Amino acid sequence: MLRQGLRLLLTACVALFAVASLGKNANDNSKNISPWPGGAEVAVVLTYDDALDSHLDIAIPQLNAHKLPGTFYLSGARPSIRARLAEWRSAAAAGHELGNHMLYHPCRKSLAGRDWVKPWQDLDHYTLEQFVDELQTTNSLLAAIDGERTRSFAYPCGDMQAGGEDIVASLKRHAVAARFGSADGQHAIDDGNFYQLESFDALGKSGDELIAVVEAARAENSLVGFMFHGVGGDYLTTSAEAHRVLLDYLAAHPDVYWVATVRDAVAQLQRFQGGQQRKSEPLASTAREN
Ligand SMILES: [Zn+2]
Repeated sequence: MLRQGLRLLLTACVALFAVASLGKNANDNSKNISPWPGGAEVAVVLTYDDALDSHLDIAIPQLNAHKLPGTFYLSGARPSIRARLAEWRSAAAAGHELGNHMLYHPCRKSLAGRDWVKPWQDLDHYTLEQFVDELQTTNSLLAAIDGERTRSFAYPCGDMQAGGEDIVASLKRHAVAARFGSADGQHAIDDGNFYQLESFDALGKSGDELIAVVEAARAENSLVGFMFHGVGGDYLTTSAEAHRVLLDYLAAHPDVYWVATVRDAVAQLQRFQGGQQRKSEPLASTAREN
């Protein structure tokens, strides 16, 4: 009886070990497949919201010093668009993406902590048609600045409803991707939903804390996003020092960290996912194509 029990236990242990080894090999294989250019281990998108002066004064000069691209989500009615239009145009010419963050930065006033939302910015009182109108007008404004036709979007306040209606279906006709906030900022490489592109809120974080977010994503080969507001000034601020430390770190190993605009990172991941899809299709369908 005892011997039979021992044999059973041994069989179970061998089976468990085999399953564990299989799992390990599967993980190891997946880590060998990098969707990122040059076999980089992680893609990093640096995004900046609300068209703030500190982007033009601090963030962009720091990015340019390392030739790293950022994605700037502009709200068309912000003062810096009127006062510093030529500088935004120069930023786009230097390789930064200008993204759509609406004209009036509408947010849902009915949610907690939204006392600051003015009645005319209240997304709860928009119609879907009004939302789409403003979305398209912002695309036109941005095209007049940078001449681009492909545009990504960032949800003001992360809100995805206008007048109680879901905005995502409409958004898909006017933007290639849409960014919102999330805890770890990671978008998995097999995730085909580009209208909930993750980003880590860099508010108040140190350089080391930002680097830790990149390293966690590196372990997964994922696409990691950062959301900045003020950099060394304005509001919801990340210090200029923390921002610089992160950029220094990323720029030191371009073979490991692929820093891209949202537009480029999404296009790259879509190509990769399309390739993976074709590989997994049965041979018969390939034959039919030929
Ligand atoms: Zn915003």
